[in-house]
Amino acid sequence: MAVVKMENATKDYKVGKVDVPALRGITLSIEKGDFAALAGPSGSGKTTMLNLFGCLDKPTGGKVFIEEHDIITLKPDQLADVRNEHIGFIFQSFNLIPVLTAFENVEFPLILLKKDGPGARKKKVMEMLAAVGIANLANRLPSEMSGGQQQRVAIARALVKNPDYVLADEPTANIDTKTGHEILDLMQAMNKNLGTTFIFSTHDPKVMEHARRLIHIRDGQIESDVTQAGI
Ligand code: ADP
Ligand code: MG
Repeated sequence: MAVVKMENATKDYKVGKVDVPALRGITLSIEKGDFAALAGPSGSGKTTMLNLFGCLDKPTGGKVFIEEHDIITLKPDQLADVRNEHIGFIFQSFNLIPVLTAFENVEFPLILLKKDGPGARKKKVMEMLAAVGIANLANRLPSEMSGGQQQRVAIARALVKNPDYVLADEPTANIDTKTGHEILDLMQAMNKNLGTTFIFSTHDPKVMEHARRLIHIRDGQIESDVTQAGI
């Protein structure tokens, strides 16, 4: 089953009076349980694709479907609901709230969803912090953690609401290589253990080797889409 798909999606950015084509007709279906890497050089269109998958932007042409909803038909508040309920986000620069502890950062999306009371939230947050290996850092502020630890908090925050899929734009770009591998292995373990669908971008060849499904993007088009056995 596809969780999200594009049909001949195009995206042009207007720069002054000029249209800059960023995506030139992408047709792609991400299946439930996928662990998919968008790989390509800087400027190839990775972030633009993730923004469309994340309901942060709409295509210029073609279609993007989230859970069978054509996103062009959704109003801004409906798009916000889709983001809150269905999608987890992991960013290159972690984007934790600096005045909140690790616990509070992970709890935040649950508060927004208004579904769980304090007790249920605490249980989910502590389970997720334990799953990403930092239960002992629950009371630290982001400024008191390393980059790798902050990214673990960000992964916990993205996963705590059990989203249909998680988007990560170059999640290992701001951490050292060894920690980057640990973060990738952690994402892969969460994919295997929880069945969470991941779509992430990278231009790091070492990161690409770890991805079960590797989609190469060049000049806003898909160059290849390969599922690697044994990962
Ligand atoms: P990547 O993430 O692979 O580096 P992007 O999706 O950011 O690629 O960019 C794809 C193309 O779109 C590039 O040519 C880039 O310069 C252009 N682009 C991206 N964002 C904007 C923007 N907000 N305004 C104008 N051009 C943009
Ligand atoms: Mg980018």
